[in-house]
Amino acid sequence: MAKVIAIANQKGGVGKTTTAVNVAASMAATKRKVLLIDLDPQGNATMGSGVDKYEVESTSYELLIEDKPVSEVIVKDTSGKYDLIAGNGDVTAAEIKLMEMFAREVRLRNALASVRDYYDYIFIDCPPSLNQLTVNAMAAADSVLVPMQCEYYALEGLTALMDTIKKLAAVVNPELKIEGVLRTMYDPRNRLANDVSEQLKRHFGELVYRTVIPRNVRLAEAPSFGAPAMYYDKSSTGAKAYLALAGEILRRRDKTMKKAS
Ligand code: ADP
Ligand code: MG
Repeated sequence: MAKVIAIANQKGGVGKTTTAVNVAASMAATKRKVLLIDLDPQGNATMGSGVDKYEVESTSYELLIEDKPVSEVIVKDTSGKYDLIAGNGDVTAAEIKLMEMFAREVRLRNALASVRDYYDYIFIDCPPSLNQLTVNAMAAADSVLVPMQCEYYALEGLTALMDTIKKLAAVVNPELKIEGVLRTMYDPRNRLANDVSEQLKRHFGELVYRTVIPRNVRLAEAPSFGAPAMYYDKSSTGAKAYLALAGEILRRRDKTMKKAS
């Protein structure tokens, strides 16, 4: 049964899409079957997976709004060796149309039901707001992975986000967990980043991943090459960091499974 992880933060530019694409590729490289869902109308995760958002036949729009079977909207075996449900400008219309639909919060959850047995991991790249699309992601997910930059206001934003996730979960998905908090674009020479990182660990403890994603130009360049960083420059610090993150996600899952049994 797939574990479904929504990658969310209402702030833009914190590394959600970079994390979605690179963690999906890293997880696929460990021989897991992976599906990545692009719920952002910007379609950056789609382009970063080597799929042309202007040419793609179906997107999460058709899945959410037109009841198109999930098997028909999936693009198989992208440049990152995972499957993809694309996103592009059409997804903006989905957000609006969802508003007037019956059971609108669980459209994605229901649409994914038939493929949950097939995949090991399903990652959802969320838009940078807490709109109806993000609500759908949270309703479909087992857990939320929150990427964040260690900046001055980051903690405040994060506390607010955790609060919102909890409130949302209570309504649409009581089982929803926080998967973890990921420090992105990290520069260890920056004192403020170090301070914020320490506060983060004090506040969120074990939830903060040990893996830190460094600021690495290869991660920013890879999308223009249409592939995750590990296929653009596998020896880059960015590619290695995301492989380490995939390992950490796998170990956490083992741990919680052991606790449960
Ligand atoms: P979001 O999806 O949260 O808006 P992105 O993943 O698109 O954020 O990242 C925002 C910008 O920062 C992009 O241009 C991306 O290439 C760049 N970026 C993301 N992570 C890193 C990193 N670790 N090092 C360098 N650049 C990064
Ligand atoms: Mg994004």
